[in-house]
Amino acid sequence: MAENQVMENSAVDFIREIVKTDLAAGKNDGKIVTRFPPEPNGYIHIGHSKAICLDFGIAKEFGGKCNLRFDDTNPTKEDTEYVESIIGDVKWLGWEPANIFYASDYFEKMYECAVELIRRGLAYVCELSPEEWDESYRGNLVTPGKESPYRNRSVEENLDLFERMKNGEFSDGAKVLRAKIDMASTNINMRDPVIYRIRRVSHFRHGDKWCIYPMYDFAHPLEDAFEGVTHSLCTLEFEIHRPLYDWVLDSLGYPVDHRPRQIEFSRLNLTYTVMSKRKLLQLVKEHYVSGWDDPRMPTVCGMRRRGVPASALRKLNQLVGITKFDGLTDVALLEHCIREELNATAPRFMAVLDPLEVEIINYPAGGIEDLEALNNPENPADGGRKLKFGKKLFIERSDFMLEPPKGYYRLSVGKEVRLRYGYFLKCENAVLDADGNVVKLECTIDLASRGGNSPDGRKVKGTIHWVNAETAVPAEIRLYDRLFTVEQPGADGVDFLTQLNPDSFRTTTGYLEPALAQIPAGTSVQFERTGYFSADRDGSPEKPVFNRTVSLKDSWSKQQKK
Ligand code: ATP
Ligand code: MG
Repeated sequence: MAENQVMENSAVDFIREIVKTDLAAGKNDGKIVTRFPPEPNGYIHIGHSKAICLDFGIAKEFGGKCNLRFDDTNPTKEDTEYVESIIGDVKWLGWEPANIFYASDYFEKMYECAVELIRRGLAYVCELSPEEWDESYRGNLVTPGKESPYRNRSVEENLDLFERMKNGEFSDGAKVLRAKIDMASTNINMRDPVIYRIRRVSHFRHGDKWCIYPMYDFAHPLEDAFEGVTHSLCTLEFEIHRPLYDWVLDSLGYPVDHRPRQIEFSRLNLTYTVMSKRKLLQLVKEHYVSGWDDPRMPTVCGMRRRGVPASALRKLNQLVGITKFDGLTDVALLEHCIREELNATAPRFMAVLDPLEVEIINYPAGGIEDLEALNNPENPADGGRKLKFGKKLFIERSDFMLEPPKGYYRLSVGKEVRLRYGYFLKCENAVLDADGNVVKLECTIDLASRGGNSPDGRKVKGTIHWVNAETAVPAEIRLYDRLFTVEQPGADGVDFLTQLNPDSFRTTTGYLEPALAQIPAGTSVQFERTGYFSADRDGSPEKPVFNRTVSLKDSWSKQQKK
C-alpha cells in the first residue's frame, strides 16, 4: 500500500489517543493487536469499511497487527460464500490481514472456559424456557430480576449436565448454560445471561461436531483474549455489553494489564442508503437489485463494480472520523470523494450518450484524419491518443437548441462552438422531421482552427464533445442513481421498499470513441463532460458495457461554498 495511506488515516481521534496512552504505559508489553470480526452471514458494506479502516489503520500506524477473524459462532446463517467475498473485499480495500482466523476453531477452548466458570461457581445449567425467563425472571428496566430455581445447583451437577448438553443428550432449547452474575443489576445484560445454548444445526466449517454453541457475549472476549488482541474496537451498540465482556475476562483470571479492552465508536450511516444486512439480503432475495454486487448496493463489491475506487472509501472514512456520537453522513460526501479520486486518476475519453448526427458539409466525403487528444489534462504525464475525425459526427442532443435561451453557449443555427480537440464548428442548418424534431445538423468547420485553436483571435464560448459516427462503437450504458428517494429509508416505521427510487437504473445506447471499447473490465474512465464510468464485466470489445459511477456535478462541493 502507498505510504500516504498512513497519512490518510492518521487524523487523531479518541481511540488513537487511548492507543498512544496504553503504549506509553507499557500495557500488553507494548504490543498493538486489533481485529476485524465480521460474522460471515452477508457481504460487507461501506459501514464495515469504517471498522476495517480503523482496525487495520491503527495496527499499521502503531506498528501492530490486525487479524481478520470470522465470528462464525452462530451457525444458522453463515456460509463460505460470504467468507470468500469478505477476504477479497478487505484486500481490495487495501489491507492485508496478519492472520485469517475463525472463532469456531476455538470451540474446544471456549468449552473449557465454560467448564472453568462452572468450577469457579460462576455458571449454571438452567432449564427455564425462554418464555418463562422473559416473563418471570429477567425483570425489566425498572424491576430487578428474580433468581432462577436452578441457580444454586452444585458444581458437580452443573459439570455433569453441561457435559451431557455437549454430548447431545437434551433437545434444542431444553437447557442453557448461564453466567451467574447479578439478577439485580441495572444492566439487563448482567442478569445471568445465557452463554451456551443447544442447537442442532450443522456448522459450515465443523459440520455436526457441536450441538452446543457459545453466545456472542461470551465468545467474543475469549476470541480476543486467545489472539492477544489489545484493543477490541466495535460499534456503539456494544457499549452496554462491555461490563459482560470484562466480567468474562475477570472471571477467568485475565490480568488487567494483559488483556483486550473493548472500545466503542459510532457507526457510519449514509443518507439514501440502507445498511442493515437483513434489508440488503431482502433486496437481493426479492430481486429488487440484480445481486449483492448490483452497482446500486452499498456493499463493497457493489461499489467496486460501480467503479468506486477503494481510495475514495478510505478517504470518506478519514473525513467522517471516529467519534462516540451517532451521526448521518450525506451520501454527497461519498460522491465528492469518488470524484476527487477519479478526477486525479481516470483517463478522459469521449462518448455520446444521446446522439444527434452532424454532417460537415465542407469536409470531403470519405475524408478521415487523426487528431491529438490528451488522456488526462489533470495529469499530462498520462500521455495522449489519436482521435479519428470525419464528415459525420455524433454530438450530444442536449448540446443543440433550435431556440436557444440567452446565455446558451452551445450549438444553435448560425452559432459556433469548439469541438474538443477538433475544429470550430458552425451550424448552418437544422434538418427536421415531419413532427418538427431535429434529426440532423448540417455544419461547417473552420479548417484553419485545427486542434481547436482560434485562427484569428475570435472566441467561442462553448466546447462540446463528439465522436466520429463512422468509427464510433455502440455500447450499453447503465445509468445508476440513488436506490432510495428519501434520506432515511425505513425511518418512522415506513416500509423501506416503498421508498425505492424507480429511476435508479436505466440503460441507453451510447457511442464511444473506439479506444474505449478496449478498456478492461473494472477500469474507471471519465466520459468528458458527462461523468465517471467503469467498464463492466458483462461487456466485450465488440459489445462494451459501461456503468455510470457518478456524474460530474458535485453537489457536496457546491453546498460547502454556499
Ligand atoms: P449483524 O447484525 O449481522 O451483527 P453487523 O453489520 O453488525 O451485522 P458484523 O459482521 O457483526 O455485522 O460486523 C463486523 C464489524 O463491523 C463489527 O465490529 C461492527 O461493529 C462493524 N460494523 C458493522 N456495521 C458498521 C457500520 N455501519 N459502521 C461502522 N462499523 C460497522
Ligand atoms: Mg454485528
